[in-house]
Amino acid sequence: MSSTVLMPKPPRKIEMKTKEEISLMRQAGAVVAGALTMLRKSLSAGMSTKDIDVLAMDYLSKNNAQPAFLGYRGFPASICVSINSEVVHGIPSPKRKIVDGDIVSLDFGCVVGGFYADAAVTVPVGNVSGEALRLIQVTEESLGRGIAAALVGNRLGDIGFAVQSYCEQAGFSVVRDFVGHGIGRALHEEPQVPNYGKKGTGTRLVSGMVLAIEPMVNAGGYEVKVLDDQWTAVTKDGRLSAHFEHTVALTEKGPEILTQ
Ligand code: MG
Repeated sequence: MSSTVLMPKPPRKIEMKTKEEISLMRQAGAVVAGALTMLRKSLSAGMSTKDIDVLAMDYLSKNNAQPAFLGYRGFPASICVSINSEVVHGIPSPKRKIVDGDIVSLDFGCVVGGFYADAAVTVPVGNVSGEALRLIQVTEESLGRGIAAALVGNRLGDIGFAVQSYCEQAGFSVVRDFVGHGIGRALHEEPQVPNYGKKGTGTRLVSGMVLAIEPMVNAGGYEVKVLDDQWTAVTKDGRLSAHFEHTVALTEKGPEILTQ
């Protein structure tokens, strides 16, 4: 789940994680990864987005993990399901059916031993457009490039620069109003991790940071708006959006993806 940049927050310090804490986050990450793999295989036209939430909750209980999103600021489900022009934070509903040709973003998190993990994928269902497939490929690749820039000694702006420059070269845009985030004992910790930025600027990256890096990429303009349900963010121009996310531990040996 992404953090809202517009949300005013008191300044907090960045919580570094010990090896033991990262080990718990690795366990939470394995559950998130397993759930997303299962859901990706299960997705099909005719399912409701509520069906996806039921499968996700069931997977958590079988794996002794707690939902991260259920009740978070009042969010009513364990997973965010955002379809086509929906960017993030779509609320599962029995009325919303998946249709052949949809692209479906699944954003999921859990808690194990008091520590959170958070990840997202966008999945094509049936026959999707060429633009939709390319948007999905570019967004996934931009996450890989953002992670590759999450090196000890680099700065936060290097991650945003890697994501933004790649997406914009491909003719797409990166969302500004929602960003990635630090993660650990809380779902959203400092620092915020924008998907845009300038090389060599921002907070220095150090070993022990754990970041949720999560490009939200639009086929058209970067502007988004939040619907009357107070959660679902959609593109202003109605064009497609895709979302990929991993929880990543920064180590001296390089970035370790905890949700793979
Ligand atoms: Mg997140």
